[in-house]
Amino acid sequence: MEKKDIDWGNLGFGYVKTDYRYVSNFKGGAWDEGGLITDDTVTISECACVLQYAQTVFEGMKAYTTEDGRIVTFRPDLNAERMENSAKRLEMPAFPRDRFVEAVVETVKANAAYVPPYGSGATLYVRPFMFGSNAVIGVKPAEEYQFRVFTTPVGPYFKGGVKPLTIRVSDFDRAAPCGTGHIKAGLNYAMSLHAIVDAHKNGFDENMYLDPKTRTKVEETGGANFLFVTKDGKVVTPKSDSILPSITRRSLIYVAKEYLGLEAEEREIYFDEVKDFAECGLCGTAAVISPVGKIVDHGKEICFPSGMTEMGPITKKLYDTLTGIQMGRIEAPKGWLQVIE
Ligand SMILES: *Cc1c(COP(=O)(O)O)cnc(C)c1O
Repeated sequence: MEKKDIDWGNLGFGYVKTDYRYVSNFKGGAWDEGGLITDDTVTISECACVLQYAQTVFEGMKAYTTEDGRIVTFRPDLNAERMENSAKRLEMPAFPRDRFVEAVVETVKANAAYVPPYGSGATLYVRPFMFGSNAVIGVKPAEEYQFRVFTTPVGPYFKGGVKPLTIRVSDFDRAAPCGTGHIKAGLNYAMSLHAIVDAHKNGFDENMYLDPKTRTKVEETGGANFLFVTKDGKVVTPKSDSILPSITRRSLIYVAKEYLGLEAEEREIYFDEVKDFAECGLCGTAAVISPVGKIVDHGKEICFPSGMTEMGPITKKLYDTLTGIQMGRIEAPKGWLQVIE
């Protein structure tokens, strides 16, 4: 198969239309057969539940080429499970997990010409999502839904080298106690837009959100989970009911324990402890781990010993091991790589 003529190394993170997308519609209490289409537009009622009441959930994952030339995705079964949980919380019908994985595989396969070659650093970003599509004016869940998967090629995350982030402690909350912080829903992002624009205006890369109830514990940023390393080399990540269960973070904890022989634990982390950590990173599909060099709490700076020019040593080991597993250079735990072709 001939690859598209794209300058992979210089791609950014923007939407590039690819040839095929997968669509299935839910009507009369059942999902239809679904299949690939070429039309990248959606036509729905002006009163669709998604437009009026934000009834929509999504997922994000990547397809890429491994060292030995296979096209794979990373743990799509976990995305399927998480989307089911997100859908349930918004009173949407679950899209069956096995069909979710099949839809991802089919869509990537159909767009194989857009899967960047090994070594380019670029990947094919895969976006499954679902929304309430029929007209709803009185507040209630929709009766009809569309599930859709599209792909878009994205460039290397650390273009021009690693640059540790500077983040601030936010005065805004991203999730309410007992709210929707643990599901992957557009609504969590809509309300974070003001906070991120304001952070950028003030010279920060990201917001650190604290727990909305007590504002004493670390939660996450707008789109990534925190990972810290203690001075004695232990990996710790925040435990909370209102953060999104990152698949990258869960995989890194496993890698820390099983591949690197490190102690790793998920527990409540008080903001007061953060100044004592040796390393800090943000984990998510986009970067795997993006190092944090500095956290600013209302003028008070916490500077991690790892500094502002490189990843901390343990962060680097975690990054190299997980990306090695993803790219097929290091043997993956059973079931982590879904081979597409
Ligand atoms: C998607 C997302 C993450 C990262 O999850 P991954 O599965 O690792 O990509 C973290 N936080 C939020 C709020 C997210 O939406």
